Amino acid sequence: MNNHYKKSLVWFRRDLRLYDQAALFHALELSESVCCCFIFDANILHKLTNKEDRRVEFIWESIRCLKEELNALGSDILVRFGEPQKLIPQLMHDLNCEALFINKDYEDYALTRDKEVALALAKVNKKVHKYKDQVLFEEKEILTATGNPYTVFSPYRNNVLKKIEFEGIQQFNCEKNKNRFAQTNTENLISLEQLGFKQTNIQSLKIHFGTKGGILLIDDFKERLHQYKEKRDFPAIKGVSYLSVHNRFGTISVRHLAKLALEKMSQGSAAWLNELIWRDFYFQILANFPHINHAKSFKTQFDAVRFENNEGFFNAWKNAETGFPIIDAAMSQLNQTGFMHNRLRMVVASFLVKDLLIDWRWGESYFAEKLIDYDFSANNGGWQWAASTGCDAQPWFRIFNPILQSEKFDAEGKFIKKYIPVLSELPKKEIHAPWVAYEKNPLTFQLRLGKDYPWPIVNHKEQREKALKMYDLKNVG
Ligand SMILES: Cc1cc2nc3c(=O)[nH]c(=O)nc-3n(C[C@H](O)[C@H](O)[C@H](O)COP(=O)(O)OP(=O)(O)OC[C@H]3O[C@@H](n4cnc5c(N)ncnc54)[C@H](O)[C@@H]3O)c2cc1C
Repeated sequence: MNNHYKKSLVWFRRDLRLYDQAALFHALELSESVCCCFIFDANILHKLTNKEDRRVEFIWESIRCLKEELNALGSDILVRFGEPQKLIPQLMHDLNCEALFINKDYEDYALTRDKEVALALAKVNKKVHKYKDQVLFEEKEILTATGNPYTVFSPYRNNVLKKIEFEGIQQFNCEKNKNRFAQTNTENLISLEQLGFKQTNIQSLKIHFGTKGGILLIDDFKERLHQYKEKRDFPAIKGVSYLSVHNRFGTISVRHLAKLALEKMSQGSAAWLNELIWRDFYFQILANFPHINHAKSFKTQFDAVRFENNEGFFNAWKNAETGFPIIDAAMSQLNQTGFMHNRLRMVVASFLVKDLLIDWRWGESYFAEKLIDYDFSANNGGWQWAASTGCDAQPWFRIFNPILQSEKFDAEGKFIKKYIPVLSELPKKEIHAPWVAYEKNPLTFQLRLGKDYPWPIVNHKEQREKALKMYDLKNVG
């Protein structure tokens, strides 16, 4: 018998599933009996000022799913609300567990929290086992020939693909030891209200929770995977997987997704695997360049750029009132659903920084508040890419034209019409920049600009020139 422990505790965090879960697998392998717990972390929840938060509800619903699955096995997940630094040692003591099993989390707060918990447990002679789970490759696993972390994506990706070819992708079969889940009575789940939160509109968004919800999306996407490359950039069509929230909370396994991409090799699946590797890439950037945690540009020389930071412009951007239909439609999608299509994330981020001349960190924080899939590493990476301050970023002199982006990626204006119904009667020739047709013929135009829909708050050409001056480090004194 290779059981080292009589009883262990698995602390679920951003790995809310019972299949292919590294910490759970090892706990089940090494213990006679395995208890499960989840802590609603007061240190995080108290900082969320908006008490209608789709993420908290997604987590809560996914915990409910885990509970159902464990109850069906005669077990349960113990759910607590408070500070994990106190609650985990307490649970370990109360349950008489000898070892704690967790999956690694690479974010700043999580690193400190996990160190504190490990320290508290070491004092009472309890073991802590940590595993890589949320990424394919972590920290310093993929290095350049000179032993340094990569800062450019393509060679990083090539190295990852070689490693996968050589090593394959490991899967953790938790199923085989499922008889080792601790047999317990079922506890009632703390309610959202007891956590200080209210229900959001998430139920009406057709977002499916837990592993079952993730699998539904995977099954739907499998059939479309081969078309991903052609379709992924068009927000009005179903071209992407919409799996990011499941990746964020680990209701599905990233190894499972990578395996799927490798099994169905096509141009589409290669392009999709590429995106999963971007996700890993930004995690390793976070692990190896921790200065990005402290509101610093990856390329620190760009911290000298002086943004104009006009608050009125920022409010117009947040409230979808810029007068640029594609920007306003994208921001409405974010505000109404907590999701935004990747192409549009790039377009609105570029617009905020290089048209409205606002610090990328303001946009990063707004996305952090609103995105249901918010992940520090991908969000920071995406913002720094658009702002040209990041590793392997868009060069600073390359500036998206929001009207051309709109014409190219939403040619029929279908996405715009979905999120800005007041524009739904405009023909496709006019919808991308309605002011052009309006100025020619204000009396016959279907809308009154300034009343039914805003005038554009800036002139793209003029702002482009200003952005070029602002970014040119020769001008920064
Ligand atoms: C400014 C900006 C901010 C972003 N913020 C986040 C964020 O907070 N959280 C987040 O998960 N993604 C973020 N992204 C990346 C990307 O937009 C989303 O992952 C993607 O839109 C999610 O949709 P999907 O699941 O259908 O993706 P798919 O196209 O189906 O891709 C599959 C998976 O790969 C990962 N992925 C895809 N693109 C990227 C990328 N560029 N960087 C990192 N991972 C990627 C996601 O986990 C995604 O679920 C951001 C991008 C930008 C430009």
